[in-house]
Amino acid sequence: MAKQLNRRDFVLTGAAAAGLAATRPAFGRAAASQMSSARPVVVASGNGHRSRNANNETCVEVAFRMMTSGEDVLDSLVAGVNIVELDPEDASVGYGGRPNADGVVQLDSCCMHGPKRQAGGVGAIEGVRAPSLVAKAVMDHTDHHLLVGDGAQAFARNLGFEIEADLNTENSRRQYLEWKRRTDPGHYLTPEERIQAGLQAGLAMVAEGIIPEDEFWGTINCNGVNAQGDVCGVTTTSGLSWKIPGRVGDSPILGAGLYVDGTYGAAGSTGRGEANLYSLASFLIVENLRRGMSPKDAGMEGLKRIQENTVEQRLLNEEGNPAFGVNFYIINAKGEYAGVSMYASERGRFAVCTENGAELVPLDGLLQRPNA
Ligand code: ASP
Repeated sequence: MAKQLNRRDFVLTGAAAAGLAATRPAFGRAAASQMSSARPVVVASGNGHRSRNANNETCVEVAFRMMTSGEDVLDSLVAGVNIVELDPEDASVGYGGRPNADGVVQLDSCCMHGPKRQAGGVGAIEGVRAPSLVAKAVMDHTDHHLLVGDGAQAFARNLGFEIEADLNTENSRRQYLEWKRRTDPGHYLTPEERIQAGLQAGLAMVAEGIIPEDEFWGTINCNGVNAQGDVCGVTTTSGLSWKIPGRVGDSPILGAGLYVDGTYGAAGSTGRGEANLYSLASFLIVENLRRGMSPKDAGMEGLKRIQENTVEQRLLNEEGNPAFGVNFYIINAKGEYAGVSMYASERGRFAVCTENGAELVPLDGLLQRPNA
């Protein structure tokens, strides 16, 4: 399954990289104070070390290689997540991501450049395989942070991004039709019943092996710091599987799906977006880094805040704890990192790449699953 950026993506990425390189000296005082203080590292969700490009490299490997060769950190991270976005077999991100309840693939992404104190995002964009590139273009070419829906697509078209009629693949369409068959959303179900039926159908499809377990909640977040202490991050997703059309999750929202403070570090998320939005946990985690906490302790505090803010009965398990998963991937400006998860699990892993190479590392869990 060799995959590569198409030429247009490459040209757009390359042009952006050249533009950023030209403005590097303007990063300012805060970033300069971190110079030469970091051990370079890139962290990402587990799919950051699964999908591969034509050279057999994964997201974290590409990002680490580019970043340590002197490329801008954010350009390196975006080039990394492009591999996952363009992978037709990753059904949680970009091209071939699982569509919304009407069968349309709508994508969310945001990115943040720590030294520049700049960010860009897109929500519910259709027709563009790699929304992280459009998020970066919003950062580079506008005075705004977030463009959504048709406006985001028109912006992308005007910049020369290819707009496709349908981002479904055979795999995402097959899963959608199976879900549709099981839920019959148009007939007789109340909105509440429809949500429950949709979730139950999806979980049953996981149990039956139709959807890989670690793909039901998808998304990639990827954060990195280079030897100069430049910290950046990017998050990109097709969002909740079979969501209500127009639903935007946490991924493109600063402070939720991603937050970067160029002086202290970065945090980003995968998992139940609504829970993360209610707590703005990525912002909270980076604030905790600013107060001097380690990445792991800062991440655990973010998870505890989500736990405290989860009070609706329908979202709780029999032990009164959140009945959903949410993960955070965290780096500080020294190159220390952590991956934390609401629940400890044998299979929960995140991707890390350092000078020693790339690996999948167990996530630290806040809670044990009931009966575990
Ligand atoms: N956080 C994403 C969202 O809520 C989904 C995920 O990571 O699974 O859209």
